[in-house]
Amino acid sequence: MSIPRSLTSDFRKVLGEDSVFTEDADLLSYAYDSAVLEQRKPAVVLAPSTRELLGRAVGMCYRADLPITVRGSGTNLSGATVPEPGDSAVILTSKLNRILEINQRDLYALVEPGVVTARLARAVAAQGLFYPPDPGSQEVSTLGGNVALNAGGLRGLKYGVTKDYLMGMELFDHGGELVKTGSRTVKCVTGYNLAGLMLASEGTLGVFSTLILKLLPPPRASRAMLAVFERFREAAEAVAEIVAARILPCTLEFMDTRCIRAVESFKHIGLPVDAGAILLIEVDGGSSEGVLSDANEVKVVCAKCGASEIREARDPGEKARIWEARRNALPALARLRPTTVLEDATVPRSRVPDMVEAVADLASRHRLEVGVFGHAGDGNLHPTILCDRRDPEEFARVEEMVDGIFETALNLQGTLSGEHGIGLAKAKWMEKETNRATVEFSKRIRKALDPKGLLNAGKKII
Ligand SMILES: Cc1cc2nc3c(=O)[nH]c(=O)nc-3n(C[C@H](O)[C@H](O)[C@H](O)COP(=O)(O)OP(=O)(O)OC[C@H]3O[C@@H](n4cnc5c(N)ncnc54)[C@H](O)[C@@H]3O)c2cc1C
Repeated sequence: MSIPRSLTSDFRKVLGEDSVFTEDADLLSYAYDSAVLEQRKPAVVLAPSTRELLGRAVGMCYRADLPITVRGSGTNLSGATVPEPGDSAVILTSKLNRILEINQRDLYALVEPGVVTARLARAVAAQGLFYPPDPGSQEVSTLGGNVALNAGGLRGLKYGVTKDYLMGMELFDHGGELVKTGSRTVKCVTGYNLAGLMLASEGTLGVFSTLILKLLPPPRASRAMLAVFERFREAAEAVAEIVAARILPCTLEFMDTRCIRAVESFKHIGLPVDAGAILLIEVDGGSSEGVLSDANEVKVVCAKCGASEIREARDPGEKARIWEARRNALPALARLRPTTVLEDATVPRSRVPDMVEAVADLASRHRLEVGVFGHAGDGNLHPTILCDRRDPEEFARVEEMVDGIFETALNLQGTLSGEHGIGLAKAKWMEKETNRATVEFSKRIRKALDPKGLLNAGKKII
């Protein structure tokens, strides 16, 4: 793959020598992302160091008819940053990592898109504020990537997901012109809700340069628990029962036996390795009394649903261990086989027991090892298939099982993706969840905003 030398030298003149990469080893680093898909090397990688240069890079690519894939940290799990086939540019946001403002009175943060999620969370916490969206990847993922995929996290049940915190943004359109939408105010109905359109747009409609994110005062009290169940169905049933009891935990996570054992052998946290499933639960709020009462009710509901044991964290160390267990589910499973295929089909909360059962059936029918964990309170489970991509016979069974997971989720009135996005991986399923007219409508929006079809072209809507 190659692009005209004159274009590379123009990129170097405008962006600087150290912001343009064309060496094979550099290109290979950006040929893939966290999804298990093919590798496609771009022709050039650009790393603009200012917002103005980001806009110029976008404009230059567009004028040169060079397809663009914008990349934060590449942790997406849907192939959303696999470059386009043929000559293309990857634009990195890693140097656009400034927290421009944290406003204590008006409760917002103004950031560049390459700021790492947990860095913002820590910076606002240091000022006594709270940015709730906390994807499992928060130590690595960027806020631009979070917005472009509408990332969720462990606190989604009570605090919502990235879309609930996006107040506005600046973005570059296909030609590199600056577009502004939203505001620093709580209310703003000026113009179309372009920030809403950009949410979950997966780099296909514009390139974000500044984000305005809502902040909250932090909860004053919280309690974390681990409920142990012999049968996974009981744990899954407890999820809907807790919410039906009018308690809204901030976090309500599920892990099945395979995950529990994998995490325990990896981290030695003291998890119950004979359990069929565990729920990891945190309740929080404005007063210790209210939180204590919620925690007690959660315990009653779990016991009614068959919990054999409920452990409550007695100090911050124990609480940290509970969440360490959950955050290590994927890394622990990934140690077991060469390839992990992680799905995020999502169902209405009350259908979680049916989904968990269906995944177990599919796994045994396709003779595959599967661990299930995830944001059960959001109906968003992550069945994780452990396999070896180099074995074509096994991988064919994996692909059949993935189709089965989507089919089941849609039959249960769920959705293809709760948070990981459509990217390359699920684009062919879009019409099945929606309809032809929806796909055509989306294509018309895309064509209007990107007439040459250069912005992450093969992703999301095909
Ligand atoms: C271990 C692990 C745990 C995870 N846990 C969660 C979880 O709990 N919840 C969750 O939602 N996801 C989770 N993810 C998935 C992933 O981390 C998130 O989707 C995250 O939002 C991606 O951020 P990123 O910076 O890596 O984006 P990338 O992967 O680099 O990009 C994602 C998309 O955003 C677009 N994009 C990036 N920057 C911009 C920009 N400035 N303008 C326009 N488009 C842009 C890209 O083109 C691409 O389409 C997890 C992933 C891993 C590996």
